[in-house]
Amino acid sequence: MTEELALRDAYLRETGAVVVEAGDGGVTLDRTVFYARGGGQPGDTGSLSWDGGSVQVTDTVRREGAVLHLCDGALPSAGTPVRACIDWDRRYLLMRTHTALHVLSAVVWSGFGAKVTGGNMEPGRARMDFELAGMSADFGREVEARLAAALAGNHTVTVMFLPRSQALADPDLIRTKVSLLPGSVDPVRIVDIAGIDRQADGGTHVASTGEVGEVRVVGTESKGRGNKRMRIELTG
Ligand SMILES: [Zn+2]
Repeated sequence: MTEELALRDAYLRETGAVVVEAGDGGVTLDRTVFYARGGGQPGDTGSLSWDGGSVQVTDTVRREGAVLHLCDGALPSAGTPVRACIDWDRRYLLMRTHTALHVLSAVVWSGFGAKVTGGNMEPGRARMDFELAGMSADFGREVEARLAAALAGNHTVTVMFLPRSQALADPDLIRTKVSLLPGSVDPVRIVDIAGIDRQADGGTHVASTGEVGEVRVVGTESKGRGNKRMRIELTG
């Protein structure tokens, strides 16, 4: 297991840590600020440095409960104290993008009654699929306007850990199928955007929707009956 600092504080850019294991092109640490790829959010990139060396981290993935930092050079050996630093500009853009997607899911649900069926994100751009029979020609513009209005409210984003039983009983969480999480997930990590959206989520988010900035809907397309795709981009 790795202590994952980003799950409680997404704004941490670096930490001291000790190498637990090295090999297989990657390093596991006792603690890290790196986010491991998952839930549609890419893994972090950055660097590890130590007395006498450094290496670039090209991706971060989860392996057997630990966070594996994939590296492109010579690895520090087990027991080495290191400094682990994420590529902050990229991560912060991912935080803004991830929060934008949660607000998008909320406005499409409240405005059009459509549930999310899938999604994916890169820094500054993302797509989301909705369970929606049809969409009007100006669906994209309408969603863009609702999204802008919701973001401008500068709603606070809070991360909390709820006992599983409490999460299962929370009416706001039922829509996002918290019951489908494996039984071993307890407590459940909840990302709450005050008055907008509340769901079980493992990702990193900004502290308030005002930090997201301007979001454009850059495309809508039908992916078959009852499934519509929307693409968004953050500007600036
Ligand atoms: Zn999410």
